[in-house]
Amino acid sequence: MRAPLIAGNWKMNGSKRDAQLLFGGVTAGAASLRGVEVAVCPPFPYLALGEAELADGVVRLGAQDVSAESAGAYTGEVAAAMLAEFGCRYVICGHSERREYHAESDTLIARKLQSVIASGMRPILCIGETLEQRECGETEAVIAAQLDGVLQVAGIEVFAALDIAYEPVWAIGTGKTATPEQAQQVHAFVRARIAASDQRIAQGLRILYGGSMKPGNAAELLAQPDIDGGLIGGASLDADDFLAICRAAE
Ligand code: PEP
Repeated sequence: MRAPLIAGNWKMNGSKRDAQLLFGGVTAGAASLRGVEVAVCPPFPYLALGEAELADGVVRLGAQDVSAESAGAYTGEVAAAMLAEFGCRYVICGHSERREYHAESDTLIARKLQSVIASGMRPILCIGETLEQRECGETEAVIAAQLDGVLQVAGIEVFAALDIAYEPVWAIGTGKTATPEQAQQVHAFVRARIAASDQRIAQGLRILYGGSMKPGNAAELLAQPDIDGGLIGGASLDADDFLAICRAAE
């Protein structure tokens, strides 16, 4: 009922040549995949290249961030409509690195979600707790606050038009992965929290796991009933690893 999505977040890595090779490698391997949606999110300057290289539509293009504003004097920002012009289908919003290094608030993130949806694309809303918060037993409270912050600004309807990525901050780029049970517990909590506002939206909500997902642990994570795909950082920079994760989602 919820088609899995595997999305690669390349972050600020590689060169134009690397991007070209990676677009080519992923798109060639993805042609034989069945029943799994695949997307890659390169740095902004490589979006035009991605639009050309992924033109056959087998792999979808996404962006790593967006402005909440639609146009104007916002130096350095990129508007959602501009991303849509380059063929983007997905936009990552509220990644923990944006929350941490750019002090993004739940309110700002909610406005970004609205802006992405208004431009006809699908946001991937990232949520997750830090190690300190987990160790203090605050995981569910943190996740609830992040969801409620969006709900208050944008309403429940936005959850029908986005995907969520649960990314425990302590698992991102650290090689530490949440166990399938730990991840499933939070994913089920997210679904229940949304179900409290709208049961139908909660059932259709795609919840990806992110945090050191690799070929070796993907199958076990993806087998959990509330894990509907993955947001992949480091392992998305190697076409073979990324495709192995995609195959685990078939
Ligand atoms: C991410 O940053 O979205 C991520 C999941 O990174 P990694 O796979 O490298 O942990």
